[in-house]
Amino acid sequence: MTDYAFDIKERIRDAIDIVELVSRYIPLRRSGQNYVGRCPWHDDSRPSLQVNANRQSFKCWVCSIGGDVFAFIMQVENVGFREALEILADQAGIQLPKHQRADSAIQRQYQKIGGNTAQGQNVVPSQTANGNHIQPQEPLTKKTLYRALDWVAQRYHDYLQGGNEAELARNYLRDRGINAESIRKFRIGYAPLQRDWLLEQLKRDPHRIKIMEMVGVLARREDEDDPQSSWSSQPYDRFRGRLLFPIRDTQDRTIAFGGRLLPGSTLQSRAKYVNSPETHLFSKHKQLYGLDLARLTMRNTKRALIMEGYTDVIMAHQFGFGDAVAVLGTALGAEHIRILKRFVDKMVLVLDGDEAGQKRANEVLELFVAQGADIETLTLPGGADPCDFLLTHGNEAFEHELQHNTVDALEHAFLSATQGIDLDKDIIAANQALDKVLGIIALAPAVANPTDPRRLRLEKTIQRLAQRFGLAEQEIRNRLREIYKRRAQSAKRRVQSVDAIASVGDFEVNAALLEVYSETDDDMGFDHETASDVFVEALPEIPWDVTGVLPDTLEIELLEAWLVEPNSFEVFRVKIPVEWLLSPVTRLVHRVCCEFSDQGLAPTFDRLMTRFDDAKMKTMLVTWDYSANEKKLAVNDQLIVEIVGGFERRNEHRLRPKYIGRLKTESLSDEEKLKLLMEIQQNQRTKHGIE
Ligand SMILES: [Zn+2]
Repeated sequence: MTDYAFDIKERIRDAIDIVELVSRYIPLRRSGQNYVGRCPWHDDSRPSLQVNANRQSFKCWVCSIGGDVFAFIMQVENVGFREALEILADQAGIQLPKHQRADSAIQRQYQKIGGNTAQGQNVVPSQTANGNHIQPQEPLTKKTLYRALDWVAQRYHDYLQGGNEAELARNYLRDRGINAESIRKFRIGYAPLQRDWLLEQLKRDPHRIKIMEMVGVLARREDEDDPQSSWSSQPYDRFRGRLLFPIRDTQDRTIAFGGRLLPGSTLQSRAKYVNSPETHLFSKHKQLYGLDLARLTMRNTKRALIMEGYTDVIMAHQFGFGDAVAVLGTALGAEHIRILKRFVDKMVLVLDGDEAGQKRANEVLELFVAQGADIETLTLPGGADPCDFLLTHGNEAFEHELQHNTVDALEHAFLSATQGIDLDKDIIAANQALDKVLGIIALAPAVANPTDPRRLRLEKTIQRLAQRFGLAEQEIRNRLREIYKRRAQSAKRRVQSVDAIASVGDFEVNAALLEVYSETDDDMGFDHETASDVFVEALPEIPWDVTGVLPDTLEIELLEAWLVEPNSFEVFRVKIPVEWLLSPVTRLVHRVCCEFSDQGLAPTFDRLMTRFDDAKMKTMLVTWDYSANEKKLAVNDQLIVEIVGGFERRNEHRLRPKYIGRLKTESLSDEEKLKLLMEIQQNQRTKHGIE
């Protein structure tokens, strides 16, 4: 089992100090043997996050989150294990060699557009963003594509700052009130009109050109702007003559561009905006503009402001609303909400005051409710967009709007369903409106906990609807229950689909599970095919949502003993057969300990943490490690006898009815009965320590 993947993980863990890593995100101070800081995942008034330098682990008891360096990065950066591995490998300067292998999907496309793979293996654009010359051996991987985009983003940015032709763009930005700091922070750029400007920058190298095609910067199709041109067969800059907003992922990598036509531009184009096409790096349904910067602020505000345009986001940040993001030339979708939900619970949809904005709001509302997201809408007065509003009225006025004029999603649904209806007189229309509102409410996932704010909100909404429609609360509840029942039935019929399963079962747990396990499918920067080569021995997944999956007190005591004294594992292994362990979690840890032990390695806390990639498993291990430490658990002969005794008693208790049942009912010969009795007696003796 000390396979390649394990070795790499171990090397990275050795190279990164958790105290140093955590303190890059949160100020830490020493407290006895350990370090403490304010937990970033809950509203922490006193330092609840503990960092143990000795164990290289962290833990927050309030959030029940814990783990090692990998788990910390997974939590704080909202990434899956593989990406955390990449981030830390990068920091530690450790290469993930398999990852460097050419990405087969990228390579296939490269060949398809006429690239010479033999050469393409070794060629990337000439320089990185900071001007370093390329490493000629770089293969066709996502990393290469990222570097190419980073390089070209810097070229466009430089041109905006100093290029002659960019005067128009600079004036536009100045008129829009976008300052120099924002231009730098968002790395805004300009692509010159000149058709072969970028080709010149690429020194007309065919391989570099191919790569620019693959990342969507160069286009080759028939030139819409000038079909007669002899250039039409040549690759041309998709964004030429446009102001460019680079789109970055949460790892601060440029993955695409949004290009805006400038007013007064001589470019003959009908499209006000041109965005990058879908590429190996970019899917517009999964990206939000500004999230790379906003995610840091969202950690404090615990809120996301969702806007419509690039300049809205930039202006919001410029005015101190650093939690603003925008969708990219597409409607807000379920995937966007899922991404934002990883960072915040509350989202405010900031709408342009115009009718189109209102219409879009109604369309996305149901989506939000169905995702169980806490969503409010804010319609700015006078039909202003956020950019204009901020420039005209300033940040205090905007803050005032946010504080006083937001409307929660259900209220919004109510208002739009009842618009123009006299609820007292027009009974039929009122009934239809109520059904419509209840239909939206019923999309929300079930929340059982009575103190959950979402539960409280639902109760309030029911009261409010009863009042407004002049009905008894019970009547509203009954109608809602009918809708739930109908939906559950139809969901059961479609039970094969993932969504349907989630809506039938405990939505919360299932959603959390989907989140955890979909992370491992995350293809950001990591090639599926090669990944399976690296991680040869995948451990089975723990069904965390099943009752009884967690170890009970007795098994926790055993696990704690293993962690405190890994050498005791062999003793326990002999005395406690694996069948006596009831929790699949305990069994899995047991299995991994056996694997280590069989190789002559003590199953230490470090090794176990390294072996498990599952964030929940890491949290469990750290929890037991901390609790053992707190109890000052000493693993001596007495403790071993106690724990083993506990398992024997439990096992006997479970088995006794079986023995007695067999003695009573089965037609055993006298000899067999005697044997069975002796077996029971032997059990008793062992239990009482009589040899
Ligand atoms: Zn916490």
